[in-house]
Amino acid sequence: MVNFFGLSVEELGRELATGDPRVFRVGQVLRWVYRMGIDEFSEMTDLPVGLREHLGARLTLNPMKTEDTRVAGDGTVKFLYALEDGAGIESVLIPDDGHFTLCISTQTGCSMGCLFCETGRAGGGRNLTAGEILSQVVYGFRYLGERLMLRNLVFMGMGEPMKNLGALLPALEMILDQRVLDFSPRRVTVSTCGWVPGIDALGRAGLDVNLAVSLNAADDATRSRLMPVNRTYPIGQVLDAVRRFPLKKGRRVTFEYVLIDGVNDRPRDARGLAALLAGIPAKVNLIPCNTTTSSLKGSPEGRARIFQEILVEKGIVATMRASRGDEIMAACGQLKNQPTEKRYDRKNHKRETA
Ligand code: SAH
Ligand code: SF4
Repeated sequence: MVNFFGLSVEELGRELATGDPRVFRVGQVLRWVYRMGIDEFSEMTDLPVGLREHLGARLTLNPMKTEDTRVAGDGTVKFLYALEDGAGIESVLIPDDGHFTLCISTQTGCSMGCLFCETGRAGGGRNLTAGEILSQVVYGFRYLGERLMLRNLVFMGMGEPMKNLGALLPALEMILDQRVLDFSPRRVTVSTCGWVPGIDALGRAGLDVNLAVSLNAADDATRSRLMPVNRTYPIGQVLDAVRRFPLKKGRRVTFEYVLIDGVNDRPRDARGLAALLAGIPAKVNLIPCNTTTSSLKGSPEGRARIFQEILVEKGIVATMRASRGDEIMAACGQLKNQPTEKRYDRKNHKRETA
């Protein structure tokens, strides 16, 4: 069976034409699937029965199996999906002012090896297909019951999006296409560890989505230690790529900065960060390091606040991200693809600072 979500609008048109050549059928099917969240062709009551059967025999609207759904006390929902080949991926719904943000995975693991990140510690994996990326969005809003409940999409789940642009770009086109998911580009953010050719390619694609860069250190020595990618693309090159990135008026590039106890959270790191970002339309998202299987710990709250204050004093917009979904291992850097019996073993993930 072919994954329906892997088809572009044109491919769907060709697929439909073999059952019914009338072009308005495409719009009907797109509406059922991407607006109403219908997951069976048999329920598309304005299509001829013969066409419903034709489509049902060839395409699947349920390409992933939901293996687990965990809801945290704060309303965060973590989904674990089994893909066709058995690989597992996670996406996370985060409540956000009456609506939700969906955190999407782009790979089944990550080969970038960042020390503080559970996905990176678990190691490589494969690229997701465009259909698998899009399926996460559709499953997310099916769970919520309504496409409009989903307000923001962030590519901050498992994997490095820029290493999978071949699938990410077609998926983004479907996400932004008014006939398909109709998201405003302002509500879509792609996060990267600083893979420079990917930042350039995303800019050239001209999709106007937001860019987020996981910086996590203000000097190359520290960053190279935490993020091996820095040995290939050091901070200077990453910031040059950010300066080249076509940014719409009034928009800012987000810099994520995971605050790690005693590693990158000194006042001089904050001053260094402010100096690096001078002249760039930037906002900094500070994330106290969440618990993983590594020995790295989040900065104590007082030190994190001082870090934030220094940035603000230097005129830089800096917010502190509240950790969401930590109790179900759904917070930043806690996603991974593991055998089921180990996946939610909280015993190994006790907060060492608690
Ligand atoms: N590979 C991309 C996108 C996924 S990672 C990237 O690195 O940007 C999403 C975010 O989670 C990154 O900003 C990363 O810095 C952050 N993160 C990883 N591990 C974390 C941890 N243990 N605690 C808090 N944030 C973490
Ligand atoms: Fe990969 Fe991003 Fe995790 Fe680094 S932080 S290992 S790039 S997912």
